[in-house]
Amino acid sequence: MRTEFVDFHCHLDLYPDLKGAIAECEARQTATLAVTTTPKAFPRNRQLASNSEFVHAGLGLHPQLVSERANELSLFEQLLPETRYIGEVGLDAGPRHYRSFEQQRAVFRSILYLCAQAGDKILSVHSVRSAKHVLDLVEEYLPADRGKVVLHWFTGTMSEVRRGVQLGCYFSVNERMLSSLKGRRILCEIPSDRLLTETDGPFVKKSNLPVRPGDVQPALIEMAKIKNIDIKILQDCLLKNLRDIAPPL
Ligand SMILES: [Zn+2]
Repeated sequence: MRTEFVDFHCHLDLYPDLKGAIAECEARQTATLAVTTTPKAFPRNRQLASNSEFVHAGLGLHPQLVSERANELSLFEQLLPETRYIGEVGLDAGPRHYRSFEQQRAVFRSILYLCAQAGDKILSVHSVRSAKHVLDLVEEYLPADRGKVVLHWFTGTMSEVRRGVQLGCYFSVNERMLSSLKGRRILCEIPSDRLLTETDGPFVKKSNLPVRPGDVQPALIEMAKIKNIDIKILQDCLLKNLRDIAPPL
């Protein structure tokens, strides 16, 4: 079956039924990156996704969990050779997680370093209130020829968007981001050849219910409107971007 859409950041394993969530992405013909939040969660995700043409599991260590799970970094390193897809990783300097920020930086630095050494990894990166720090570390530890960085739900400044573009980063944009003026301005600043869609389900909600896995069509429609591009052209462009960063996905 042909790939029609891209959901480059979805927590499939946080829906009540992981198998069902994978089946939904397949039914929607959506190439999906199933991000995980701890290395321990990766094997089950990978196993269930292994028969799917559309879903790929990412090996993650979420910045919001670093204070409790930093000791899983060794498991992360052990599992790294088994996948090209990494995420969710990154930094979070929001008020609830600021206390662990130095520890998060140390973990993220190690992850970038390990990915650069291994080569050919594709990372989905969280950067809440920490765009500058994320970009500094990416610049220092993971140059564009050693791996691909996709900045998920980016909320930095316009100059940070441009800096990300210069560093070779891609951006995955969800429906919720486009409901704010700032999110729409960020979208306008991202060149079309660096764009992807995501749901960030089940965290993004619609009428109080989590968005469905792989349901990126509302985001795509809104993006086409805001960027004033024909929707079919934008859809093809996102599929081309996906092939550029991740040929078999
Ligand atoms: Zn996420």
